[in-house]
Amino acid sequence: MTSKFVKILGVPFINTTRAAFIQTLQNRIENKEKTFVVTANPEIVMHTLDDSDYKKTLERADFITADGIGIVKAAQLIGQPLPERVSGYDMMMDLLEVADEKRYRVFFLGAADHVLQDTLAKVKSDYPGVQIAGAQNGFFDWNDPVLPQMIKDAKPDLVFVALGFPRQENWIGSHLGHFNQGVFIGIGGSFDVLSGNAKRAPEVWQKLNLEWFYRLVKQPSRWKRMLVLPKFAVTVIGRKAANKR
Ligand code: UDP
Repeated sequence: MTSKFVKILGVPFINTTRAAFIQTLQNRIENKEKTFVVTANPEIVMHTLDDSDYKKTLERADFITADGIGIVKAAQLIGQPLPERVSGYDMMMDLLEVADEKRYRVFFLGAADHVLQDTLAKVKSDYPGVQIAGAQNGFFDWNDPVLPQMIKDAKPDLVFVALGFPRQENWIGSHLGHFNQGVFIGIGGSFDVLSGNAKRAPEVWQKLNLEWFYRLVKQPSRWKRMLVLPKFAVTVIGRKAANKR
């Protein structure tokens, strides 16, 4: 029997295909079950090893999905393969389609204001059935209670939180108790891509699992952040060897 979760360095990833997971989220929306989804890559997993508060925040998530190919490879390496990547961007696109059809109420939180406005315009034109429950750019005062109240009053079915890691997980984790409903999902820089302000890697690169490399070429300033990838690989291999001993 395949298990429901695959633990990578202590982080439990849901063992699911993207399509099955979208169905799970749809069911939770229909049942008005409040839900916290983390889309985790190796950087996020490594951060849990350094920051115990962040680790506790992730423990409050209902689901953690394999956002990066590094997670899928690590699962393979420890002999508990995950079927595929379930990335934040892909899920946002799938969920917008469902929301369009079902006329869900969606709240958009994050990104620079012009990116957010472009995102809303794109959603209005491409997904006319989506009900925009509200929106706020990602540069706001975290101590101001107005935003959580605004989201609560908006009664959203779905809240896209595009604040980047680790801000989005910390924001959702610390405010979740305030809300009565909604699927809250951290999606990093997805508004930048949806709105056309940033490009995702061409499909061939994605198929070759080189999306991370494309991002590095496009944004060389990310190279420092990418140093975490070899560290992640070494840690996963090291733990595997230690368990065998
Ligand atoms: N962002 C934001 N508020 C902040 C910092 C960043 O809304 O205080 C947005 C940023 O504009 C971008 C997204 O978060 O749209 C993702 O940023 P980053 O590239 O750092 O994301 P990551 O790859 O870490 O998820």
